[in-house]
Amino acid sequence: MRAVTMREFGGEDVLRLEDVPDPTPGPGQVRVRVAAVEVSRTRDVATRTGRHPFSQFVTLPHILGGDFGGTIESVGEGVDPGLVGTRVAVSNTETCGECEACLSGHTEQCAELTLLGIHRRGSYAEFAVVGAGNAHPVPDDLSLGEAAALAADGAIAFTQLQVAGVGPGTKLLVTGVTGALGSTLAALGNHLGADVIGLSRRPGQVPEGFNLAANLDAGDPNLTEALMEATDGSGLDAVTDNVANPDAFAAYFPALAIGARVVFSGAIGNPELPILPVPAAPLYVKSISLLGVRTTTPADRKRLWELVDAGFRLPAGSIAELPLEQAAEAHVRIQSGAQHGHTLLTVESS
Ligand SMILES: [Zn+2]
Repeated sequence: MRAVTMREFGGEDVLRLEDVPDPTPGPGQVRVRVAAVEVSRTRDVATRTGRHPFSQFVTLPHILGGDFGGTIESVGEGVDPGLVGTRVAVSNTETCGECEACLSGHTEQCAELTLLGIHRRGSYAEFAVVGAGNAHPVPDDLSLGEAAALAADGAIAFTQLQVAGVGPGTKLLVTGVTGALGSTLAALGNHLGADVIGLSRRPGQVPEGFNLAANLDAGDPNLTEALMEATDGSGLDAVTDNVANPDAFAAYFPALAIGARVVFSGAIGNPELPILPVPAAPLYVKSISLLGVRTTTPADRKRLWELVDAGFRLPAGSIAELPLEQAAEAHVRIQSGAQHGHTLLTVESS
């Protein structure tokens, strides 16, 4: 099969299109013909450099690529052959499903957790082998590109919005709204009935089709006032902050309403670990909750796909696609920050 391999860590030019042997599904596994794979800034681009903590788990030569959409092409021992031909969204994370951590819902602490495209060869390829339980059937009218984007960020977005208490009428601020996760949060927040205010360094790049109540510039020196204005003076009920930029935090904190919930999940705004300036008095006077979310849960993943079955879709314009052959170019675009929304590699059948 054709695959984008890397034989060493380094710049984007280590990504090479090669012919490699087809992977064979083992017991409990399926082989999926890849249609589209999400290119992830952290998991793919950073791991490729060799400087990310994930890099130590990679065995060279390697194939990057995690969450993807595709069609089940063959099955291993113990898997229903009737699944062949099923269109699926595949999540990159596999766990044992049996240990105490898995059974309590804290799957991220499973000792046997592995990531497709990190611990195992990934999906920048015509075929990928995954556990049958990680291949989720998707509706006929959902494109496999959108399936890949939702597999990547849909469930974690749902978890963050649940923890943030988002529902109809919630005035929700989404930081980093031009990114893959941020744009998913905005779309899902809208779907759940929230008034979504987007924040980013490039408000002009917010994909079309987003129904934002306001689209604000993170560099605005009067950001606090702009947020109060965007909420008609009532303040923010909820924030999902996946950037953790201390300056943005200092600006939105005074605009939080009584009982506001702020969810942090990831901290990509700063190469160093950002320190957030939390004023203690308003924190308790306004009963504000600051909450961390490590990852999603199997239950939330199930709920996300139920919402998709019931009609939730990402807005047009939030997904950019390049052919597999242009994997290096996709990495360059993501590194430069020029890319907004989801970036996918699409794979032609040969
Ligand atoms: Zn486990």
